[in-house]
Amino acid sequence: MTAADQPTETVTREVTLDEVVALSKRRGFIFQSSEIYGGLASTYDYGHYGVLLRNNVKGEWWRTVVQERDDVVALDAAILMHPRTWEASGHLEGFTDPLVQCLGECKKRWREDDLRERQPEGELKCPECGGDLSEPRRFNLMFETHMGPVQDDASTVYLRPETAQGIFVNFKNVLQFARKKPPFGIAQIGKAFRNEITPGNFIFRTREFEMMELEYFVPPGVAPEWHRRWMDERMRWFTDLGIRPDHIRLREHGPDELSHYSRATSDIEYLFPMGWSELEGIANRGDYDLTRHAEFSGEKLEYFDQQAGEAYVPHVIEPSVGVDRATLAFIVDAYDTDEIEGRERTVLRLHPRLAPVKAAVLPLVSKAGMPDRARAVYEELRRRVPAEYDEGGSIGRRYRRQDEIGTPWGVTVDGQTMEDDTVTLRDRDSLEQSRVPIAGLADELAARLERPWRSPKLD
Ligand code: ATP
Repeated sequence: MTAADQPTETVTREVTLDEVVALSKRRGFIFQSSEIYGGLASTYDYGHYGVLLRNNVKGEWWRTVVQERDDVVALDAAILMHPRTWEASGHLEGFTDPLVQCLGECKKRWREDDLRERQPEGELKCPECGGDLSEPRRFNLMFETHMGPVQDDASTVYLRPETAQGIFVNFKNVLQFARKKPPFGIAQIGKAFRNEITPGNFIFRTREFEMMELEYFVPPGVAPEWHRRWMDERMRWFTDLGIRPDHIRLREHGPDELSHYSRATSDIEYLFPMGWSELEGIANRGDYDLTRHAEFSGEKLEYFDQQAGEAYVPHVIEPSVGVDRATLAFIVDAYDTDEIEGRERTVLRLHPRLAPVKAAVLPLVSKAGMPDRARAVYEELRRRVPAEYDEGGSIGRRYRRQDEIGTPWGVTVDGQTMEDDTVTLRDRDSLEQSRVPIAGLADELAARLERPWRSPKLD
C-alpha cells in the first residue's frame, strides 16, 4: 500500500480500549503488575491465556521469519552488554526524547514532539491544566544499573533499549559459523527496556516490553529493493493472521522524523482505538551500525566477496516489532460482539493459529457417562492441539467462556456420542455444528489449522 491509497480516518472504531482491558482482566490474559501493592505504572503481567496468545504471536513470527526461510538464522544475545556498545550505537548521545514539564498547576511531564502533533500552531500549553511549559530537555530513555558491588561511573551498565545491537556485535561470529553470505539475516526475540516519558494505552507503550527483530544484511546496491520486499512481507504477515486490511497501513517517515541511524523508515500502522499508531518499524539502517561498531571495537565487520575479490560493509534492513503491541493489535482486531438467541455475546475472532486454546471438549451434561467419555477425548486430543476440558455449568455458559478467550472449536460429547462415537464440532464464528467421528477429530482440527483464514468481521 502507498501513502496515496491509505484509508481515511472515517473507519468506525468498534471497540474501546477500556473494553479490551476489561476482557483481558476478566479472562486472565493480562493483569496490572504488583496489583496487591497498588500496581506499578504502565507495567503488566500476563496470565495463562495471555502467555499462550503471546507465545503464538512469537511462534508465527518465528515461523515466517526464520523457519520457512533459508536465509535467516537465530540469535539470543544477553540483555546486559558492554557499555561501549551504546556509545557506538549512538544511544548514549542520541536516544533521547524532548521532555517538557508543566509550570502551572499539575506539574505533569510531556513529550514535546507529541504535544506539537496535537497543537501544531502557536505556543505549546499543558494539555491537562493549560499551564505554561518548561524549555525542552533531552531525556535519555535508557535504564541504567550497576554491575558488581561498587556503584560508580565505571560500573554503569544499561538495560538494552532494543535487541538489534546484540545482533550487530555478533555479526562476525555468525558470519563465521552460519555459512551465510549477504543477503542473509539474523533474528532475535527478547526483552527491551525504555524509560518512556509518557507510557500508556495499556500494553501499547510500556517501559519493559519484548521485541521481535530481524537484521537483514544486504549488498549496498540492493538495499532499497530489500527494504520494499520486507515491507510487503511484513504487511502480508499481519493480514494473513487476520488483521483487517482497512485497519493497517504503511506510512513513510518524513526527513525530520528519521532516527539517527536511518536512511529511510516506514512504519506499519494499525488503527488502534486511540487512532492510527505505529505497530512496526521497517528501517533501512545503511552501514551505520557495522561501521560504528568496527570503529569503536577495532574489529573488521565486513563481508569478503570472493567473486568480486573485495570486501564491503553490508547494509541493513530492519523490521522491528513489539510482541506486546502486536498482541494488542490482534486482540483489538478480533474483539467482536453479536447476538445469539437474543443474548449478547462477546467473542474474540482470533486467527485459529493465534488462539490460546484450539478446542474445548465439553460433555453436554454431567451425567450418563458423558464426563468420562469427554475426558478421554480431551486427553487424546491435547497431545495434538492445545485443548481444554470443562464440565462446570450450563453448556451455553461454557461456550460463552470459550468464545471470550477465542477458542475456535467446541467439541461436545452428547447422547449420540455414546451410541456412534461421533462428537458435535461447533465453529466459534459461523456457529455451524457438524458431526465428526472421534477417530478423525485430531486430524480434522490439524487440517483446519492449516487452512487460510479470513476474519468474519470483513463479511
Ligand atoms: P516511538 O517513536 O513511538 O517511541 P520508536 O519509533 O522509537 O517508537 P522503534 O524503536 O521503531 O520505536 O521500536 C520498534 C517497535 O518496538 C515499535 O514499532 C513497537 O512495536 C515496539 N515498541 C517500541 N517501544 C515500545 C514500548 N515502549 N512499548 C511497547 N512496544 C514498543
